Amino acid sequence: MRFEIVTIFPGFFAGIFENGILRRALAEGLVTVGVHDLRTFTHDRHRTVDDRPFGGGEGMVLKAEPLAEALASLGIKPKTERGSGGDAAADTQVILLSAQGRRFTQAMAREMAGLGSAKFDRVVLICGRYEGVDERVNELYCDMELSIGDYVLSGGELAAAVVVDAVMRLIPGVLGNEASGEFESFGVADAEITSDAEGVPRSQHGAGGLLDYPHYTRPAEFGGMRAPEVLMNGDHLQIRRWRREQQLRKTLANRPDLLEGAALSAEDRRLLEAIRAKSGG
Ligand code: SAM
Repeated sequence: MRFEIVTIFPGFFAGIFENGILRRALAEGLVTVGVHDLRTFTHDRHRTVDDRPFGGGEGMVLKAEPLAEALASLGIKPKTERGSGGDAAADTQVILLSAQGRRFTQAMAREMAGLGSAKFDRVVLICGRYEGVDERVNELYCDMELSIGDYVLSGGELAAAVVVDAVMRLIPGVLGNEASGEFESFGVADAEITSDAEGVPRSQHGAGGLLDYPHYTRPAEFGGMRAPEVLMNGDHLQIRRWRREQQLRKTLANRPDLLEGAALSAEDRRLLEAIRAKSGG
């Protein structure tokens, strides 16, 4: 899997992939990242990448021509010309980072990592700046506009780093334990995790579209608080049940919207009712 990042600030990425899992994935060649300086694709003395917006208004807009040249250098043709012989874009997804885009989710990260139905060998991430990018770049070249959340950043670089991080760690071989990507917050759907007769997921940790449960480690006693006793008694059914309840509790408190999309068992619904009743909600 290869990421190509097009940016006016290539220096931004120095160091960002040099830690932890990402560094290892790059070192082992499981993933490669190319960072492309947009100014390389300008032809004037000032290496101009932006201009004033048509119609007036605040700020500047990233010009279409340098971006088109940058994409051409990566073998990316306009969408209408793709699909012909030897097309380098056939296995490539071109993404414009934008606050106006579809919201990036774990499900999208899984899809990009090749765990869903789509298979892309390469993801191109275009980082906007200023007021954004000339819309014709989006219309002519981009397969998707992607937002990492409902807030406005000053540039697409942080968003690109977020996407690379979230996708890269799901690529087979990158995480030590292959399963761990599935069993975290927003993990695979409940339907994909087998449950026992009582509706408790078989997995120790299956998030099943919910948020993750809380984690504890030694010491057992900290700050006047004891780690939950149930985690120390070795009864795995009880532990799974407790963790499931905690997931439901946390999701209800912090992200109740996720409960609507989750496939909940009868036991989950009973637990939720009990939690709601207890909290008076
Ligand atoms: N005028 C734009 C708007 O109101 O939607 C905001 C432009 S923003 C200051 C500059 C660049 O930052 C954008 O072109 C985009 O690449 C990036 N950006 C800002 N917020 C983002 C977000 N939530 N997700 C992804 N990229 C974002």
